Amino acid sequence: MKKLIVILGGGESGVGAAILALKEGYEVFVSDGGEITADRRDLLKKFNIDFEEGKHSVSKILGAEIIVKSPGIPDTTELVQEMVKKGIPVVSEIEFAYRFMGDAKIIAITGTNGKTTTSLLTHHLLKTAGYKVALGGNIGTSLARLVAEGGYDYYVVEVSSFQLDGIVEFKPDIAVLLNITPDHLDRYDNKFENYVSSKFRIIENLTQEEAFIYCIDSQPITEELNRRKAESCVFAMSASKHDKLGAYLEEDHLIFNYEYRNNEQHHKIPVSEVSLIGKHNMVNSMAAVLSSIHLNVPIVKIMKGLKTFKNAPHRLEYVAEVEGVAYINDSKATNVDSVYYALDGIKQGIIWIAGGIDKGNDYRQLEELVEEKVKGLICLGKDNSGLVDFFTGKTKQLAEVDKVKNALEVAREWAQPGDVVLLSPACSSFDLFDNYEDRGDKFRRAVKALSKKVKVTKS
Ligand code: ADP
Repeated sequence: MKKLIVILGGGESGVGAAILALKEGYEVFVSDGGEITADRRDLLKKFNIDFEEGKHSVSKILGAEIIVKSPGIPDTTELVQEMVKKGIPVVSEIEFAYRFMGDAKIIAITGTNGKTTTSLLTHHLLKTAGYKVALGGNIGTSLARLVAEGGYDYYVVEVSSFQLDGIVEFKPDIAVLLNITPDHLDRYDNKFENYVSSKFRIIENLTQEEAFIYCIDSQPITEELNRRKAESCVFAMSASKHDKLGAYLEEDHLIFNYEYRNNEQHHKIPVSEVSLIGKHNMVNSMAAVLSSIHLNVPIVKIMKGLKTFKNAPHRLEYVAEVEGVAYINDSKATNVDSVYYALDGIKQGIIWIAGGIDKGNDYRQLEELVEEKVKGLICLGKDNSGLVDFFTGKTKQLAEVDKVKNALEVAREWAQPGDVVLLSPACSSFDLFDNYEDRGDKFRRAVKALSKKVKVTKS
């Protein structure tokens, strides 16, 4: 008789796990307490996979030999507690997928910030070098679905802490840990140390055969590493010089000092050869380059990939140059920390567009950079009092608008050739927009329209 596997949650990871389980010969049942989207429902039907939604049939679920739980379902729910009490193994989708990956190599990337950028770049570098590489996990397609699809030798997997919570044997060949700052603490008994431990599970199964790439600028990472020993070979990254193996930023160069068994390499890559901007992105780039070196990609191919990479939209995304002024969309920067990296990474004079829903932001971190670089602040929000109160007198010009179009009119008036107009809001977008993507799309469209208008007027 076939073994019954129950998949809790019919989202991307649940459906991926269901398809893989079916392929591997399980009897599969998907149970979702909410609604499953129409496209996923169709997919389950296409594969003839049994499912329910809007409820959990507890007696059927408790008959499972193994349960794959979606990362969105906390361990504390009554149903999960019951499963654990009955001794049924409950694993995450990446753990389940891992069991069917054979010899394929896994590059797992985690951290509070920068996961998507680093995963995309790592994938791009390996792909540019001609590797058969897939990209998935927390970004786009689930790992399980990619494994079911097959045909890949390398998997770049963006991993969240929730997915790491449900691992048992999951062992990446390269584990990347970018940074840890407080996040999702409601899922971790409001204890930061629990969240840190969860992130560190990415290395719990590593041996001398695997590599761990981590950033030493993140204090919680270095503190945790003082408490425990990484069993794998390790590479450290930093935005400042250090003498460990790994990489660092020195003025306008990324310096790489790599050594593993008989392979010793030293490289100095000018920042101008990297398509990404900002210090934080230099660390992300180091992670992608070190991973590629470790997987034997020749440095010339890595350099080619670094130059041709285009990041996901809304993250310091270059939109266009109009009348000698560059327009950059950083709509994803919804907190002060992200804006810090944006302002810090741009060398030119900046017309800064910010605002939206201010979640009690403390702008002191930005004060020096704003005084040094920002020529004018345009507040784009319904209630701009937080920004206005803090920055009045600290920037040469300040305006308030409630439409992207008006923001651009002011920006165009203030900007001189060689300046940058930066949308980096430090706030969420729901006062005037559907979400940060909508805000960024509207900004991009308005800039393109402006660019067209200027060209038409000129010709
Ligand atoms: P994630 O997938 O972890 O949310 P993204 O790559 O989408 O990360 O980046 C989200 C935001 O986090 C970016 O807009 C940027 O401001 C910030 N960020 C990116 N990389 C880093 C990093 N290495 N350290 C700190 N902040 C970062």
